[in-house]
Amino acid sequence: MNLEKIQEYDDKYYMNTFGKRIPVAFKKGKGIHLWSTEDEKYTDFFAGIAVNSIGYGHPIFTEMVSEQLNNLVHCSNLYYIEPQAQLAKELVENSCADKIFFSNSGAEANEGAIKLARIYFKKQGMPEKYEIITLHKSFHGRTITTLSATGQEKYAKPFEPLTKGFKKVPQNDIAALEAAITENTCAIMLEPVQGESGVYPCDPEYMKKVRELCNDKNLLLIFDEVQTGVGRTGKLFGYQNFDIEPDIFTLAKALGGGIPIAAVCAKESVAKAFTPGDHGSTFGGNPLACTAGLAVMKIMKDEKLPENAEKIGSYIKNELEKMASGSYSIISEIRSAGLMVGIELNKAIAPDIKNKMFEKKYLIANIGQNILRILPPLIITQKDADDFITALKESLEELN
Ligand SMILES: *Cc1c(COP(=O)(O)O)cnc(C)c1O
Repeated sequence: MNLEKIQEYDDKYYMNTFGKRIPVAFKKGKGIHLWSTEDEKYTDFFAGIAVNSIGYGHPIFTEMVSEQLNNLVHCSNLYYIEPQAQLAKELVENSCADKIFFSNSGAEANEGAIKLARIYFKKQGMPEKYEIITLHKSFHGRTITTLSATGQEKYAKPFEPLTKGFKKVPQNDIAALEAAITENTCAIMLEPVQGESGVYPCDPEYMKKVRELCNDKNLLLIFDEVQTGVGRTGKLFGYQNFDIEPDIFTLAKALGGGIPIAAVCAKESVAKAFTPGDHGSTFGGNPLACTAGLAVMKIMKDEKLPENAEKIGSYIKNELEKMASGSYSIISEIRSAGLMVGIELNKAIAPDIKNKMFEKKYLIANIGQNILRILPPLIITQKDADDFITALKESLEELN
């Protein structure tokens, strides 16, 4: 089908939740490049919203997933599953978690984390501890409960009534957090670096105090690492950028390299609150998805992708800072962690820049009118970064 036909079908048959999309459909990817149905080549600096961290068509991923696809896709959690047991072991051995549960999406993993936090206190005879404090500008998902946890009203408002038991406070404000804690609080849930709202990292000092507060007040610390997990921030997991450990953290986006899989990861003392029947999933942790996860974890390790994210991420940040202090004063702030980069502009032309970059065959995104966001595959080289910076400079010059 050509693009026009695809757009016609989309218009006619697909629910209009995404509005007018960027006018392209892709049919093939390799490395950091995508090819459209119109046979045009694009360079991807958004990675399917931080999902395609290993790039496209990675030979190890393709081989492992193809073999599993030929053998067994799904069998249900009524039976033991080899790749599931292996991926759980892999995640435990490389993180602060002792136990894993697999889900299918970020929102679903966060729901699992919320359920785990509540039942942890219920089973200790403290049913009054059910409230979770989250942060303004956070994003935790699109289900009713994760919308209730999300600190951005625009997503949740149309779907009220929401799930009870969520309270929001400003990020990096320890006094506000402390003031919000009551005898009903059971957990604090946050993203180490807020992604969807504009790339806002938590301060290391704040994070340390949050951990101390959780210890002092007997609260669980939950990190939503759906976006920051699996190498994106320059460490395998985002929390490793801070000198602390969460009690529960969730993963999704990059974990399956595009095959849907998510994880709830927890310390043994917390994980043991889930006993048979408390939680479950039909698809969660199926052989295909877990094999995809194993392939991604292997590639992360073999190719040192977190290290590359740190190295190239710092390089890009440095280049952007040079631009900002040079003749590109339109750039007012750069916020980043590894290859999670937000570029704040002091002019409301972020969508125009994104479109200009698209004309130059670069895929990036904007958040509102003033923020550009890039989330390139973690396999990019310094040359790829240089080419991107050149295209960005041209776009800014042409529009400013
Ligand atoms: C993307 C995202 C989610 C939601 O993940 P889905 O797979 O779309 O449900 C939740 N939390 C964070 C931090 C995210 O970036």
